[in-house]
Amino acid sequence: MRRKLLVLIWVVLIAALCSHVAWGEEHESGGKAAKRSHSQKMGKSQKKGKSQKKGQKAATKSKGKKRTEKKTVHSESRTSSTAVHKAATASVEPAPRAIVKGMRYWSNPDYTRLAITLDREARFEYHKLPSKHEPSIPPRLYLDISGARIGAGVKDLPIGDGQLKSARIAQYRPDVVRVVLDVDSIKDFKVFTFSDPFRILIDLKGERKTEISATKETIREAPPLAEAAKSEPLEERGTPATRTRPGKIRRIVVDPGHGGHDPGAIGAGGTREKDVVLQIALKLAHKLKEELGVDVVMTRSTDEFIELQERTAIANKVGADLFVSIHANASLNRSASGIETYYLNLAKTEKAAQLAAKENGTSLEKVSLLQAVLFDLMANYKLNDSAHLAEDVQKAVYGKVNGQYGVKNLGVKQGPFYVLVGATMPSILVETAFVTNEREESRLKDPHYQDVTAEGILAGIKAYIDSLK
Ligand SMILES: [Zn+2]
Repeated sequence: MRRKLLVLIWVVLIAALCSHVAWGEEHESGGKAAKRSHSQKMGKSQKKGKSQKKGQKAATKSKGKKRTEKKTVHSESRTSSTAVHKAATASVEPAPRAIVKGMRYWSNPDYTRLAITLDREARFEYHKLPSKHEPSIPPRLYLDISGARIGAGVKDLPIGDGQLKSARIAQYRPDVVRVVLDVDSIKDFKVFTFSDPFRILIDLKGERKTEISATKETIREAPPLAEAAKSEPLEERGTPATRTRPGKIRRIVVDPGHGGHDPGAIGAGGTREKDVVLQIALKLAHKLKEELGVDVVMTRSTDEFIELQERTAIANKVGADLFVSIHANASLNRSASGIETYYLNLAKTEKAAQLAAKENGTSLEKVSLLQAVLFDLMANYKLNDSAHLAEDVQKAVYGKVNGQYGVKNLGVKQGPFYVLVGATMPSILVETAFVTNEREESRLKDPHYQDVTAEGILAGIKAYIDSLK
């Protein structure tokens, strides 16, 4: 008996040690459609803060081969950037039933995001059925969520936006919920997850790609020039004709962090991040309109709660050329102070991962999980442009604020921020000051300090735009 127990402990230890991300990846580049399927497992014992995981890619498996996970502890996430005919399959280990709480979508002429919200994490797999297999039936994308049932009031969504005809949901088997997307015309899609609450997101890109940025897309999938030229502007952009339009940056989304029931970080003096960043964002929006003559869309202009996935969905929907999220920093170390600017990438330091956890409203563990799938989520992310924008903004905002107040320059950093995931334009997150630092907390409340900060961000955006000319 004792020996059995020892063996059991040993097995559990080994399982815990091996519970880092295991990747299976397949690439098949035939023309523009690269096939990929990922599976991963991640245990609870994932080392906190072990953020940079190069070499996550492991075994290369043959096309369509099913992968089975031996052990899955809580966290599970799966993603793909393009057509996957057969996704990885999870283990058959029984799990508590998840309830599908809702299904929502955001759509515009060439982009649709569908979000399926559950009350807990659940395993899922997705499949794409090309129309050529069954000529009479249009292409479909379907997603099977196992160990799940449909919650009250969750219904089919008629969409009809050009990408999707509809999203249908059904209890396919007693423990499997199936979501079927009737596709009209899509060029590409991605499936990824957010946590707290657990959401499965499906981003679908239409055939028409509206390339707005003045810089060439350098990451992947630059559209053929003819196709880009054909595409129409999304809508009348409504910028006063008398103003000069800088470069091709015509519309900027300003995103004040948090809001509503989410106060963000709170200072010792009771200052709430959501309030001060709204003030800075409102000032910035005003300056952008007045001084650069660009359209500005704010994700929120009042004290309201906006889900993280909705923020970039708004930016994508309005065809924004830049996305700027405004936050205030927090640290357990009360003496921590300064300004830093982030763009989306794997966290290079434990501090960056911790901050991302805070801003994502989630745990460090979940951030590690997000990092594991980030590689795929960034398929459409303008990495180089975002890095340049971050550099310009950090330099200018530090310059302006330091000139009047004397602050620390914490520089440009990279981190896995949910709010930047799915953005298709250069996008950054500015941590304007530490609300947890006594001196900076009082500054953040000061309208003059807010104004100088907004002035700095404006100058940075202007410098970025000028660099595109
Ligand atoms: Zn924040």
